[in-house]
Amino acid sequence: MKPPVIVILTETSITVARKIQTAIPESVIYGLVDRTRSADFTYTNFGETVREFFQTGTPIMGICAAGILIRTLAPLLTNKWQEPPVLAIAEDGSAVVPLLGGLQGVNHLARQIASVLQVAPAITTTGEIRFKTTLLSPPLGYQLVNPDDAKKFLADLLAGEKVKLIGTADWLENSNLPISAEGKLTIEIIPKDKLELAKPSTNCLVYLLEEATQTKEKLELSQGNVSSQSQGKLAIVGTGPGAMNWMSPEVREVLEKATDWVGYKTYLDLVESLRKPEIVRHESDNRVELDRAEIALDLAAQGRSVVVVSSGDPGIYAMAAAVFEVLEKKGKPAWEAITIQVCPGISAMQAAAASIGAPLGHDFCAISLSDILKPWEVIARRIELAAQADLVITFYNPVSKERTWQLEKAKEILLQWRSPQTPVVLARNLGRNGQTVTVKLLEQLTIADADMRTVILIGSSKTRIVQQGTTKQWVYTPRHY
Ligand code: SAH
Repeated sequence: MKPPVIVILTETSITVARKIQTAIPESVIYGLVDRTRSADFTYTNFGETVREFFQTGTPIMGICAAGILIRTLAPLLTNKWQEPPVLAIAEDGSAVVPLLGGLQGVNHLARQIASVLQVAPAITTTGEIRFKTTLLSPPLGYQLVNPDDAKKFLADLLAGEKVKLIGTADWLENSNLPISAEGKLTIEIIPKDKLELAKPSTNCLVYLLEEATQTKEKLELSQGNVSSQSQGKLAIVGTGPGAMNWMSPEVREVLEKATDWVGYKTYLDLVESLRKPEIVRHESDNRVELDRAEIALDLAAQGRSVVVVSSGDPGIYAMAAAVFEVLEKKGKPAWEAITIQVCPGISAMQAAAASIGAPLGHDFCAISLSDILKPWEVIARRIELAAQADLVITFYNPVSKERTWQLEKAKEILLQWRSPQTPVVLARNLGRNGQTVTVKLLEQLTIADADMRTVILIGSSKTRIVQQGTTKQWVYTPRHY
């Protein structure tokens, strides 16, 4: 199950949201941009965001009226078996209403939330109230083989039929189910490898029991006892600029299936909500990229499934190149069998461009102003040539604590080739808390406009600022000259 999201519309809901987070620590808070300040992530469109979570199977806890969630999700309600849990929670924490996802444990979630809010959950599922258990969403380790038969089965139970239990399961024995050796209905618990013995029907629900040995294997894996026979994997992924909905499903899946995450602390923190407890975090400083790449390759060579986490795209000023550099230079024999995969992400320049229109609509280039890995003269020459070539230019790493004069120098060079009226886009904290996107003219650009979380787009001679109505401003670069 994906980590649940708490969706809020106003800053006043944050107190209740944080309380819920104490009960469900893996949950993350999404706040409406401009209306909330301290949520973990922001979103701009309630309907689209909630529908996307629903479609990706993410449990949703909306601090809002039940009606809003019902209307938002109504067009998508087609398959009861695939619904994630959806709950509405009153803004003052006085009501917890499970709405959807009965088969995915919504009532269990409702109870957890209600317990920290010290209220009674509004459970309405008849079978559950009467039998004190939910046959449709069994506890971890049990899997219902024939969910399609369950409706008739439950209807018979509710009508008064008794049930015979074959096999053992605490959660059934301790329930209020009318268990009797003479029951007309049957519930059968069988080990996973004996599935062929089962005879599921509307009179017989069958639950598969996960094998103890499988659980043992998982345990060993999580403790680092991995056999060196198994082939290691190394995925270098980009998580996008910040917001979860800008992360590709491939990246999410690779992160969730890994045994180890390697990366800069800030980037690991951004995806922490996806981390299962058994996944090992290997944090490092942002500067020691080559050491980090080597650690990752060594871990993979031991048979582990390692993910190296970058923000944005892993191939753009990030870890993918570092991994291949170490592979080329050190080339240890133990690394030969590792399966390496690079999973792309949305880069800061794409997110910046999308937020303001289409400034990268024609030819463009990207230049990093960081002179840690290359001399300033090389950077200055590139800026000059790109300016001459009339390319739109994206500056990554424009400013840092030690990098304080480079942006001013870059501006000087640009002004030799470009009009002082050239549009400039400054995008800060894209997809994260405190996102700002500002449009300026080249002559107005100062070092105070940027920091290490800002990406800057410098227009070409063709780039234009357009007004939509009186308040909305866009920037785009036309495709025709
Ligand atoms: N791989 C990343 C870039 C890493 S270099 C990517 O593809 O986006 C780090 C620089 O990227 C920062 O100094 C900043 O210029 C830019 N950047 C990264 N994330 C950003 C964000 N969320 N908002 C604005 N700029 C960002």
